[in-house]
Amino acid sequence: MTDATKTLCPYCGVGCGLEVLPPARRGRPVQRDSQGFPLWQTRGDRNHPSSKGQVCVKGATVGEALNKDRLKHPMLRSSLEQPFQQVSWDEALTVLTDKIQTVRQQLGPEALCMYGSGQFQTEDYYIAQKLMKGCLGSNNFDANSRLCMASAVAGYLQSFGSDGPPCCYADLELTDCAFIIGSNTAECHPIVFNRLRKHHKKNRQVKLVVVDPRRTETAKDADLHLAIKPGSDITLLNGMAHLLLRWCKLDALFIEECTHGFTDYAAVVEQYPPEKVAQACGITVPELETATRYWAEAERVLSLWSMGLNQSAEGTAKVRTLINLHLMTGQVGKPGAGPFSLTGQPNAMGGREAGGLAHLLPGYRSVANPEHRQVLEQAWQLPAGSIAAAPGLDTWEMVRALERNQVGLLWVAATNPAVSLPDLERAQAALRRSPFTVYQDAYYPTETAAYAHLLLPAAQWGEKTGVMTNSERVVTLCPAFCPPAAEARPDWEIFAEVGRRLGFTEQFAFQSAAEVFTEFVQLTRGRVCDMTGLSHECLAPGPKQWPYPADDPSQAMDKRLYTDLRFPTPDGRARFASFHSRGLAEPPSPEFPFVLTTGRLYGHWHTQTRTGRIEKTRTMYAEPLLEMNPRDAQELRLQSGQWVEVRSRRGQVRVKLRVTQTIRRGTVFLPMHWGVLWATAAECNALTHPEVCPVSLEPELKACAVHITPV
Ligand code: SF4
Repeated sequence: MTDATKTLCPYCGVGCGLEVLPPARRGRPVQRDSQGFPLWQTRGDRNHPSSKGQVCVKGATVGEALNKDRLKHPMLRSSLEQPFQQVSWDEALTVLTDKIQTVRQQLGPEALCMYGSGQFQTEDYYIAQKLMKGCLGSNNFDANSRLCMASAVAGYLQSFGSDGPPCCYADLELTDCAFIIGSNTAECHPIVFNRLRKHHKKNRQVKLVVVDPRRTETAKDADLHLAIKPGSDITLLNGMAHLLLRWCKLDALFIEECTHGFTDYAAVVEQYPPEKVAQACGITVPELETATRYWAEAERVLSLWSMGLNQSAEGTAKVRTLINLHLMTGQVGKPGAGPFSLTGQPNAMGGREAGGLAHLLPGYRSVANPEHRQVLEQAWQLPAGSIAAAPGLDTWEMVRALERNQVGLLWVAATNPAVSLPDLERAQAALRRSPFTVYQDAYYPTETAAYAHLLLPAAQWGEKTGVMTNSERVVTLCPAFCPPAAEARPDWEIFAEVGRRLGFTEQFAFQSAAEVFTEFVQLTRGRVCDMTGLSHECLAPGPKQWPYPADDPSQAMDKRLYTDLRFPTPDGRARFASFHSRGLAEPPSPEFPFVLTTGRLYGHWHTQTRTGRIEKTRTMYAEPLLEMNPRDAQELRLQSGQWVEVRSRRGQVRVKLRVTQTIRRGTVFLPMHWGVLWATAAECNALTHPEVCPVSLEPELKACAVHITPV
């Protein structure tokens, strides 16, 4: 078939290659969806190196969301109580640029905030950084990646000296022991798990260990499932380190030549004997010993993690504690081994490369580093000192700044914070305080649109050209294959036009996304994420994996970082760090006796902005159900299907109960996908709290204490 467009699935960080088939194909009638819209069909791209033709239900149905419920025109209103009125782009951007100038003059650049998204393409991310951090002088750009990947970024940076997952997907088929912790990979990163499951089934000596309080679809395939108490991850990992030390299963040469800090770390893990650890984690000593033995006896250990470690008030410590195990056993920088963070969003990796968090600058740089600021100011032809030295407001600090009336303008793009933020009632109240909110999105209505004064219609996947980087550092060009809905425009074009209207004509004189990407990659020169050899043209024949420097453009795939066992720290050594767990930020109590964990379901995506509009994915799980262990249900005299009220210190939801053996006693689970658009009073984040990791500033969305009563 020659009329298929090759692109990338716009959902999760697995980054599967897709082929998109137009509604009208030679000799066939135009294909239409259930609402009569022309239907763009998708199928797996067999030539994509990351997925080799596989897709899950989301990738297979994404074309159905292209035309439904689109925001088609700019819309403006004077207050949240007024209805929106359609306006022209010129009027919308005049209002927006006037507001930006007024806020800058009256309140200063720090009163400008932008909240972006891992759904951005790299070009969108890059232009947003140039506009906000460079031209407007506000580092208040944060993205929903803060709720997702920030702890992995911080953990890699502190342990290895740089962000960047060192592994690649080929390691899934080369490992002897896959250690999955805090990730329901089978449901949330299904194609990664398919590859691993196949390898595991084919090779009986390969071990699969899954650490999760729930017996998830992932855990069902495991040789060993450790159903630990929520929040006991660090204790478990320290306990494994203790046994590795006791059994002398260390890589002494690696520790000696490639790391720092082992002695102090060893002294800490000495304090974690198996009996104490097993009791603290709610597992048995033999289970702990078996997990450690699998790790110790494997030649190649690959760990995989996701939100279960990241979304925690000690998320960075958890990530570093896991990396410690790799360092003490020399399990990094070689095939089949390493600590591999699975990225949540399709281009959270591209966002990290482009500096898309409040403390970052493009090319894995930091706003706090004067040399890094200077590089960017020169590249962007801005006066010295244009970029502020202090990190901007992170996601939750933006909420707090709204509460303090310190925000003059909030610009939200490609994300739905009115469902995804923790402590939702408080967050929604803060959003209502914003004097002027711009909401730039492909869809309408969404929950966040209710808090906006100005709506800007954004072109989405398939309607704009740009690149995305997946979890294994594979960069894929995603070309436009259809025109934008009505007046929708690519995010980067909107940012660039605002920049030009504010007088930065030189800085935003781009004619195409290809030009934006060309400028961006120059800023990665010499960095760990060097991709100076990449361009849209060079990506057109197929994806490439970074590092991809211009002077050494290796066409090879399955590249790993740190294969020379040198790390990008000042002395080239990786860093051990030791931590004692502080436990959950909000442990259960007599008043709130259950630990609520949250997560995703196969087929759904985040707040359902897309998947809720596709019949097949919407009906896979038609409503949110609260999972509870049968013995807990029996004690509370509750039954499956019964309505219950779940209450935390911050809010309550009403949902139906699902009694299941797959969850440990004392813990309940609620999916995070439902906002008020889809089911009233079932917003999971009405319950969660905003306590953040002090390093990564990622909130502990994964756990809070709740009380449950029948309705
Ligand atoms: Fe898309 Fe992720 Fe499914 Fe692949 S696994 S098709 S990237 S949602």
